[in-house]
Amino acid sequence: MKILAVGRNYAAHIEELNNERPDAPVVFFKPDTALLRNNEPFYYPEFSSDVHFEVEILLKICKPGKHVQERFASTYYQEIGIGIDFTARDLQQHAKKKGLPWALAKGFNNSAPISSFYPLDHFGDIHNLNFGLEIDGIERQKGNTSMMLFSFNKIISYISRFVTLKKGDIIFTGTPEGVGPVSIGNRLRAFIEDQTILDFEIK
Ligand code: MG
Repeated sequence: MKILAVGRNYAAHIEELNNERPDAPVVFFKPDTALLRNNEPFYYPEFSSDVHFEVEILLKICKPGKHVQERFASTYYQEIGIGIDFTARDLQQHAKKKGLPWALAKGFNNSAPISSFYPLDHFGDIHNLNFGLEIDGIERQKGNTSMMLFSFNKIISYISRFVTLKKGDIIFTGTPEGVGPVSIGNRLRAFIEDQTILDFEIK
């Protein structure tokens, strides 16, 4: 399986990082070794001193897809979840300045903690879902899927023009504003509507 991720998909988050608003989805990859499951702890890596949280809604691809038209894209996923797109912001800023790829800043081991996956109707209308992240009991990020610049179906249609989707692939669909650093000892709780479905510690 592979992990695809969309950057810059919520306007307020683009502004907080002083990025340009994209005219097509900004797409990057994480390797399967980035996955962290079952609420296992995240161990702070030695190569960064500025690891940021980005809470994101996840789609799980349910069948192979190539050149998927937007109007059929909704048949390519049946389950959603939530995940954290951990980003070594110091490495990423360094790479951006030099015009180099972000691969290691986004794809390092355990940089993709994910929840279990749930049927699409489990939380309500997927195009109007509240989701967010609490750290040590304080709400740090809150978004709604209706605020995405590129919808789930647009993302699938766009990515599948370049990269064949396969069953089991996971797509991170972008983070709302409020990203920031984590520290050892933090407890992260990510929720969709009123259900906490990811809950783990930084060690
Ligand atoms: Mg992200």
